[in-house]
Amino acid sequence: AILGPVPLRSVVEAALSLFDRRFEEEGIVLEVDIADEIAVRAEEVRLEQVFVNLIGNAVDAMRGVDDSRLTISATQGDGEIEVRVADTGVGIAEAHRATIFDPFFTTKPIGSGLGLGLSMSYNIIRDFGGRLALAETSGAGTLFVITLRAAE
Ligand code: ADP
Ligand code: MG
Repeated sequence: AILGPVPLRSVVEAALSLFDRRFEEEGIVLEVDIADEIAVRAEEVRLEQVFVNLIGNAVDAMRGVDDSRLTISATQGDGEIEVRVADTGVGIAEAHRATIFDPFFTTKPIGSGLGLGLSMSYNIIRDFGGRLALAETSGAGTLFVITLRAAE
């Protein structure tokens, strides 16, 4: 597939817009810090799917949590863009940290999660020549980091 220059901020905003109602209903504070000029090598539709997966997981993890906040930020490095998706949710139990990227691994009730979001997202980002990793998690929240190639 051709990996065109994709404007990161608009893709993140398109993914976020699908969750507007849940942000409002659950009082989740949003913070997006992505410079307008940042562009990555990706396929736009599949990259949006990755953000939909990560944002959906973050929202699920913050259900019923006070002062919940979702922060998505990006920094430009040397030929690379690092995107950070951070939530203030319940975190990932130590016993699950090695398996969250496995297909069909889920801690959600039947019908609400197939356990495919993270494995699909991992493969999509890998197809773009990037990386998706769990960077930090604790009872205070979780941080996923996506590294993508910068587009000229
Ligand atoms: P699903 O959302 O269908 O369960 P995923 O592959 O998206 O499948 O996620 C797998 C599991 O990883 C989730 O069920 C959950 O236990 C854990 N997980 C993923 N993201 C987060 C997060 N931001 N905070 C807490 N747990 C998470
Ligand atoms: Mg999911």
